[in-house]
Amino acid sequence: MPNILEVALPVHLYAQFDYLAPEQVVQPGTRVRVSFNHRELVGVCIRTKQHSDFPLEKLKPVKAVLDEQACIPQELMNLCHWGAIYYVYPLGEVLNLTLPKRLREGLPEQKPIFWQHSTEGKGLPENALKRAPNQQKLHQALLVHQQLSKSDLKRLKINPATVKTLQGKGLIEQAQSALPSQPPTTLLSASPLTLNEQQTAALEVIRYHQFSCYLLEGITGSGKTEIYLQAVARVIQAGMQALILVPEIGLTPQTVSRFRDRFNAEVVELHSNTSETEREGNWCAARDGSAQIVIGTRLASLCPMKRLGIIIIDEEHDASFKQQDSFRYSARDLSIYRAKQNNIPILLGSATPSLETLNNGLQARYQHLRLTQRVGATQLPSLEVQDLRNQRLIAGLSPTTMEQIGHTLNAGEQVMVFVNRRGYAPALLCHHCGWTAACQSCDAKLTLHAHPRHLRCHHCDRQKAVPKHCPKCRSPELMHRGLGTEQTEEVLANQFKHWPVIRIDRDSTSKKGAFAEALQRLRDGAPCIAVGTQMLAKGHHLPNITLVVIVDGDQGLQSADFRGIEKLGQLIVQVAGRAGRGERKGKVIIQSHTPDHPILELLLQKGYHPFARQLLSERRNANLPPYTQLAIFRAESKRPENAIELLELARRLCQQTFPASPTFTSLGPFPALVEKVQDRYRYQLQLTSTNRKQLNRLLSQVTATLSDHAIAKRTRWSLDVDGVE
Ligand code: ADP
Ligand code: ZN
Ligand code: ZN
Repeated sequence: MPNILEVALPVHLYAQFDYLAPEQVVQPGTRVRVSFNHRELVGVCIRTKQHSDFPLEKLKPVKAVLDEQACIPQELMNLCHWGAIYYVYPLGEVLNLTLPKRLREGLPEQKPIFWQHSTEGKGLPENALKRAPNQQKLHQALLVHQQLSKSDLKRLKINPATVKTLQGKGLIEQAQSALPSQPPTTLLSASPLTLNEQQTAALEVIRYHQFSCYLLEGITGSGKTEIYLQAVARVIQAGMQALILVPEIGLTPQTVSRFRDRFNAEVVELHSNTSETEREGNWCAARDGSAQIVIGTRLASLCPMKRLGIIIIDEEHDASFKQQDSFRYSARDLSIYRAKQNNIPILLGSATPSLETLNNGLQARYQHLRLTQRVGATQLPSLEVQDLRNQRLIAGLSPTTMEQIGHTLNAGEQVMVFVNRRGYAPALLCHHCGWTAACQSCDAKLTLHAHPRHLRCHHCDRQKAVPKHCPKCRSPELMHRGLGTEQTEEVLANQFKHWPVIRIDRDSTSKKGAFAEALQRLRDGAPCIAVGTQMLAKGHHLPNITLVVIVDGDQGLQSADFRGIEKLGQLIVQVAGRAGRGERKGKVIIQSHTPDHPILELLLQKGYHPFARQLLSERRNANLPPYTQLAIFRAESKRPENAIELLELARRLCQQTFPASPTFTSLGPFPALVEKVQDRYRYQLQLTSTNRKQLNRLLSQVTATLSDHAIAKRTRWSLDVDGVE
């Protein structure tokens, strides 16, 4: 009998490929090198089989088997399979995405490094190095722990130079293999907090070693993270691992340090700031079980874990959990599937759960746990709508708002001013003839930036000098319109000369470390004003901020996106959550031209939960997600007719399969919100169905037919299942 290997390759084709197997047994998940279309590629073995649909003499042999043991464990293989089917994406590309770069390129795995005493080092008295405190610290740490990994050294703040010195003295050496992990008795390095009643009740509901999805809906500052910590403690005490997903680690270093401070365990990070070498080491440590806790962003949901015991998703409503290009997966939804497969609990935490999740909670598909009080004495801030109508505004700020900012600074406290656009002003126009500076490649106005002064397109990043005269009528009277963070910064700095104004947006924090530095200045607590975009809204703990101003509270109410209001509500509540986390009560001013908008009123008077329920009932009436499933075909081309033709074809294919199904609707093709970006015209076709399985079958059929079609080769296109944009 011939032996055939089915291999998934990193190519954008909806198929696996057959090769003649080598003599040795190759486990699924093993990397192999094969030739494909005159190229050499690294693929992943899916399975061994006896029969191929291709004639045997046409099959090529596998060139090399790259791993002794499967590189990708079965559990992750299954997850990738499911993801590839659910999101209708080539399996080979999904598998490729999960691998660290060097492994993707076919290089051998690097063994993790552990340091231990040499025989000589072991014999050294405990205080032998007391004159060199750093060396002494490392020596003593090794007496306690026997072995230290790279991340242990990081946690203990022992720098590489010290390691080198002791190695040079022959006192320490690299270990050949890792010792079994430490006994659980030494697991906690700091004692847990005593939970309040609500926290206790929530924690006690969680069952381990069985699947259940928990929605932990707790207002900001209600102690959700403490529940995560205590749930994780139980899991690792049982010898299992925890996976914690957070929206953006660069923005929440505090979460990571809380885990590191609490546990005497191997805590590894996986996110965009981890270097490739570090990522590989951490990935392998998670897979081999030596890392007990993995904290990461979206991509970490595809990290192999040897004995996964719990998954936690913090700020589950955050849009960053959905990938917006190539493999458009939701890390949250993928994780729920994963928890189910592993028969373990998954905890979704948020002060402002997404409507999808909340609906599942209300329908009792998830266990709904609620924390409605802030921990300790800190009170929720008061919310106040500031009616902007007929007021004299300075850079969009009302006189009352200005006054309040002054009071707060005078009282020695900090202010946060939230503006949703970066740059100086979102438009530059001619006062004489009405010309507006627009991008040549996009359907978009250019944003005026002041530092340094230039015009920039926020869609394609094209930059231009600011003209002195109107290019149309030569008038020198050019004026800016609208408001960006730079302008607010300038106006506030003029108005409040004695206090620093710190701007925090993508431009001001593009340099490495700039964001952390700005946060540190805020944490130091001296009175100041922080002006920033969404970046500021995420879970930072800044106790001296007592006033938060939302400059344009109307944004989102008129949005073309049906999720606009949901996002606005989440933003207001999250931003408000930054206020008054210390001893003093905070205040939030929401400036608005429509202060009596009923949905805004509901949010402010009753809170997020009733607001979200109201939105849910509107979604139900309009037949929108979460009551239907949404999938979007997108196409773009320099020639709009190509994009339209492709989507028309997709629509016809759908209608052939579902001529008249009451559960299925299609809408489009219609142009995207910004039709032209970088000279490409973008269109979309929106499909909705109340039957997930049926829609999935349809999508995979249509995708397969479409990708073989000539038009699909000329036009860029993609499918977004459960699209959120
Ligand atoms: P959330 O994640 O819900 O925003 P945190 O877990 O960050 O809330 O808790 C807010 C603050 O309250 C933190 O400083 C935390 O250390 C503290 N805290 C949480 N639970 C308790 C508790 N049971 N007793 C005392 N302090 C607590
Ligand atoms: Zn003009
Ligand atoms: Zn542009």
